[in-house]
Amino acid sequence: MGTPPQLTPEQRKAALAKASASRKRRAEIKAQIKNGQVGIDEVLSLAVTDEAVGKMRVKELLESLSGVGKIRVITLMERLNISPTRRIQGLGRHQLKELRNEFVKTDAAVKPGRLLVLSGPGGVGKSTVAAKLRQAGEFWVSISFTTRTPRSNEIEGRDYYFVSDQEFSQMISDDLFLEWAEFAGNRYGTPQRQVEDALRQGKNVLLEIEIAGAKQVKAHLPQSVLVFLEPPTWEELVSRLEGRGTDGEQRRAERLELAQEELAAAAFFDVVLVNDQVESVVRKLIELAQN
Ligand code: ADP
Ligand code: 5GP
Repeated sequence: MGTPPQLTPEQRKAALAKASASRKRRAEIKAQIKNGQVGIDEVLSLAVTDEAVGKMRVKELLESLSGVGKIRVITLMERLNISPTRRIQGLGRHQLKELRNEFVKTDAAVKPGRLLVLSGPGGVGKSTVAAKLRQAGEFWVSISFTTRTPRSNEIEGRDYYFVSDQEFSQMISDDLFLEWAEFAGNRYGTPQRQVEDALRQGKNVLLEIEIAGAKQVKAHLPQSVLVFLEPPTWEELVSRLEGRGTDGEQRRAERLELAQEELAAAAFFDVVLVNDQVESVVRKLIELAQN
């Protein structure tokens, strides 16, 4: 082994801070795995773009899964030839595939879930409705990847996976998206495998995405139900965008200009719902998934 590099006190401090943030991130993810918020499949995908997650040891990942005992972890790692200290980012293609097969079981007897795609102009209330549906536990709500910077109230892995332009381009080349689109200067994409796995496992899936993406989903999966959310009036849409307070004046003007084009797309959708009351939209979406 060569001599370690000599670090200045500042470099040393920065390295320690980075390592500590990284450990905190891994602890967060492990807690989410334990309580079932994220599955192994999502963690393996996240590890491609999130360095801290990529550095998690495979053993720790497996031991965090509820119902997976230490013995099964050891046997499985031996079978797949994964050394006890291997990190997720060091796994080979074959090992990744085998791990997925081991835990993402599909049952031929399970009736596939319904795929609902919720679209509509920015500010109409899509994410509000999606959050309620997630809470209600009736849908598996897909988490998109985006190149947009997080808003102050947003959390990585809950609202989006925030990635760089370069990482997003790599994901496109790797064919990881069911659909992706550019919106107001940023790119957004739906991870393909997670959605398809959830449907195969019989879960109803909700995508909350913009219109060009919704059309791509329909082209790939014609059985999907495209739902267009409309504001009660144009004035109400303007007031919701202002009330949300997440965009500056310039950005809001851009979003409103886009919204005019978006409203014209309603005719393409299978179902149009007016978002007057969030609760009633939520009820109707649950009914649609059960039909
Ligand atoms: P989108 O995701 O479509 O861009 P949001 O869910 O962020 O829109 O909603 C925009 C704003 O409108 C938020 O401040 C939200 O609280 C509010 N809102 C959403 N649905 C309703 C509704 N039915 N009535 C009144 N305000 C709403
Ligand atoms: P926001 O920046 O307000 O979170 O989202 C901007 C727009 O991008 C919204 O219309 C939202 O529905 C859409 N969006 C979010 N995730 C995706 C995605 O994965 N694919 C596509 N096509 N649009 C998305």
